[in-house]
This record gives sequence, C-alpha cells and structure tokens, in this order.
Amino acid sequence: MARYVFITGGVVSSLGKGLASAALGALLQARGYTVRLRKLDPYLNVDPGTMSPFEHGEVFVTDDGAETDLDLGHYERFTGVHARGTDSVSSGRIYSTVLEKERRGDYLGKTIQVIPHVTNEIKDFIRIGDDEVDFMLCEIGGTVGDIEGLPFFEAIRQFGQDRPRGEVIFMHLTLLPWIAASGELKTKPTQHSVKELRSIGIAPDILVCRSEKPIPQKEREKLALFCNVRPDSVIAAYDLKSIYEAPMAYHQEGLDQAVLDAFGITPAPKPNLAVWEDVVDRLHNAEGEVRVAIVGKYTELEDAYKSIAEALTHGGMANRTRVRAEWIDAEIFEREDPAPHLEPFHAILVPGGFGERGTEGKIKAAQFARERKVPYLGICLGMQMAVIEAARNLAGLKTAGSEEFDHEAGKKRFEPVVYHLKEWVQGNHTAKRRVDDDKGGTMRLGAYTANLSHGSKVAEVYGREVIEERHRHRYEVDVKYREKLEEEGLCFSGMSPDGRLPEIVEVKDHPWFIGVQFHPELKSKPFAPHPLFADFVRAAVEASRLV
Ligand code: GLN
Repeated sequence: MARYVFITGGVVSSLGKGLASAALGALLQARGYTVRLRKLDPYLNVDPGTMSPFEHGEVFVTDDGAETDLDLGHYERFTGVHARGTDSVSSGRIYSTVLEKERRGDYLGKTIQVIPHVTNEIKDFIRIGDDEVDFMLCEIGGTVGDIEGLPFFEAIRQFGQDRPRGEVIFMHLTLLPWIAASGELKTKPTQHSVKELRSIGIAPDILVCRSEKPIPQKEREKLALFCNVRPDSVIAAYDLKSIYEAPMAYHQEGLDQAVLDAFGITPAPKPNLAVWEDVVDRLHNAEGEVRVAIVGKYTELEDAYKSIAEALTHGGMANRTRVRAEWIDAEIFEREDPAPHLEPFHAILVPGGFGERGTEGKIKAAQFARERKVPYLGICLGMQMAVIEAARNLAGLKTAGSEEFDHEAGKKRFEPVVYHLKEWVQGNHTAKRRVDDDKGGTMRLGAYTANLSHGSKVAEVYGREVIEERHRHRYEVDVKYREKLEEEGLCFSGMSPDGRLPEIVEVKDHPWFIGVQFHPELKSKPFAPHPLFADFVRAAVEASRLV
C-alpha cells in the first residue's frame, strides 16, 4: 500500500501548491520511488471541461479521455507519469456520485450525510490504485477555511486515522508576507492558517513557506515552535526564474529529506538528480532567442494555454535557445493587415479554441505563414483553420468553413470542410453522439492512434510512423476534400487507423507548416520535449538566422 502525502494550502491561494506537489513527486522519483499525484478540487462543477479557460485556465486531457485540472499537467511534466481520469476529482463529481447511489437505493434507506457518505466517497477515491505506487501525493485545491473544502479536509483527517501510523503525512503551504516598512517577514498568517488546520483535526508535519526574502533561522524556529513542526520541516520556497528550478530548489531546502524523515524512512535512499541538473543547465545556458507569435482568443490569461507555453519552453530547451512567446488576439487581424504584426516573429502558432470569434483572424495568420514561408504550427482549431485557409485560397472553395460556426450562428453559411463528427471508432467500439448532447464529455477525447505517411515531414519529425496523441474536439476535417487539397499542396500526412479522420496536414514546399488535430503540448516534458515542439523551435531558430 502507498504512503500518502496530503498537500494543503493556507493564507492565500495561488502559492504554487501544484508545483510544490509536482516537484516533491519528482524528488521522490529521484530517490527511486514510484509516485502518483492526485488533485481534489472543492468546486461544484463535475469536471473543468465546461469551465471557460478564462475562469480556470486550461483543461488538461488525460490519455483515458478525462477533462481535468491544469495541475495534472504540472504533475505529468515533472514526473512523466501519465495522469488518469481518476487523478482528479471535484466536489461536484463526489456529490453527483453520492446522489446517483442514493437514487439507486444503494444506501438502503439511510439518511445521506456529509459525514460519513460524502467523506467515504472521497476516501474511496483517494484509495484508487494505492497498491500500484510507493507514494500517493494528493493536493487539496483552495485554501484551508474555504466552506466547500471542508468535506475534503474532514476526509483526509479521517484517512490519516484509518491508516497505520506513519503512513500518512500532511504538508501545508503558506505565505510569509514581507512588510517593507518594518523590514520583517511575518509569520502570524502562517500561525493562523495552521491553527485553522488543527481546529479541524489536521496537524501538519511539514510547512512549506513561500517568501520573497530569505527566511532567517530565528523565524524558522519561531514557526516550528508556534506551528508544532520540527525546525528542519520548515521549508522555504523562494521565487524562481523558472518553475523547472523547483525540484533542485526544494531539494536544496531539504523538502524530500524532511518528507522521508516524517515517514521514518532511514536511511533515506540517495537521490539521483542528473535529469534535473540537466534541465536547469539547459535553462541557464541557452543562447539567443526566437520569437513565436501565438495567435489565439484567450490571450488575457496565460494559464488558458499553459501546456503550450510550457511545451514551447521545452522546445527551446531542446535547442538550447530561449523562446519568447507573445500572445496576439486573433480578432485584430479581422480589422488590420496581419503582416506588420507578424513580421517580427520567427514562427507562428495557432492554438486550439472553441467558437467562431477570432477564427477569420486565425485563418489570416495561417495564410500569412503559408505564403511567407514562416514556420507554422496549428493545433486542433489551428489545424482546422489552416485547412479552411488552403480550401479557400488554394482550392478555390471560397465559402469553406466549419460546421461549428454554422451551428453557433444557427444558419448555414459555409461549405463544411470541417464538419461535426457523430460516430467514430474508439479502440474496438464505435462512439456516437447527437448534435444536441450535453456539453460535457461529448467530444473525441483522450489518446488516439494516428498513422503517418511514409516520407512525410511529420514522420521525420517523430522518427516513427505510428503515434498516439491526445484529443479534445467535436469537429473533424472532412476527408472527402483530401484529394482536392493534396493536389494543391496540402498533404494529409497523418490519418486515423481506419483512414477516415485526418490527424495531421502539412504544406509541401514550405520549410515547416504542420497542423495537428490533437494536442501534442499535453505530452511534452522538460526532460523529454515533444518532437513537434522541439522541431518547430528548431525551424524558428533557422528562420531567425535568415533575417
Ligand atoms: N472547436 C474545435 C472542435 O471542437 C477545436 C477544438 C480545439 O481546438 N480543442 O473541433
């Protein structure tokens, strides 16, 4: 059975709990352990699939097709362990399961209560697969004291009691504010946060304190004394230039050692941090810079495209160059000529998205990249836009468009080169959906195989001809336009195994123009940059040498 680390937060939100959890996972791996990370979110949405990226940042999709919290992306990027649908749960999901069971009569007429029914459901979830790994790291979203978080805190308190002593520890992340006027770091908010935690029966074993200034020994001792933790379990978390410095920084602060001590594991296995040393070396020893324009819709909130931003950084690391990504609102190109906006960039990326707003601008960006021979990577909607652009401007289908926009507008305006798919093959069964299905979970989601054409650019980039990538979309490029578009130089170089669903397109006679129906960014890691991103950045470096 796994040992458990529960990670909670206090004082304020956005302290980097997900990052601390992910870094701890990486450090335990470096000591030879297997880990799995899990996120428990108190919000009432059943999953983040229906939340706007403005609200909640990116939706991270797992191989098994779950739409989950973006923290699972951090977990994967730091540990390389592929997340599963069962690694993310919300209050909404827990309550809907409890209510379904109640309707089915599973509770045999009992009164359904938060304790024990909701808390039991949470504990059952926490236990899934606990015989598979050495450590299970469970992060609780939000901060201690939040009303909707209470059932989760109660469940993890009980969980600590259910397990044998020494198999569960609690790590609490807080903030030490710096008061410039008096030149002091303040420990009081942390003391209050721990008090709050203890009032619900949880005594933290480890305190991780975010601080913009070095924490003096005196303050560490004070925190230890007042919060009832060991002095060497007060871990400082300072601001870092890059999130990928976190594993090394936490290691130097003694986090992994403190965790192993808290479990009574002595002697602790020695860590092998070569992977992270290399990552930090690549970050610090990069030469030059390439500029990549990301032409999208959700440009105000960087978290909306979190994995893309990270994958570009990884692509930079693969080439030992810095990537400066700049976000451009696609709608601008509907009013203005894209050329002056895009000329300063060495490469253009059009990411995924939903709805018609901004799409004509994305089509213009694709046209600019194709005609000016600027490296272009189109992801999901970004591939669909590239296909529409080629259909209109190369194949002469002036009204080419996507059924998505006609559905949205409630009228038929476009020839649907991108259409609404209602039936497809998933593994060995046929998945179906209706146009009016609920919004949640009606997409082609999760890992699907694609076969790459022999001799194509993508086959060369991947170094393979069969790939598996993650999807999240309702619409597909219609294969019936394949011949026409290929005649004009837009090759369908990746297809679903049954040959019905175009997965990749590329422009012939172009230094680098690739559109993919899936989301390669979800599988990129700092220590294993995704081949598409690594090669896209390489192409950008080449383009930068031409100017
Ligand atoms: N809106 C498009 C679709 O549903 C693209 C989705 C995406 O980019 N993730 O097919």
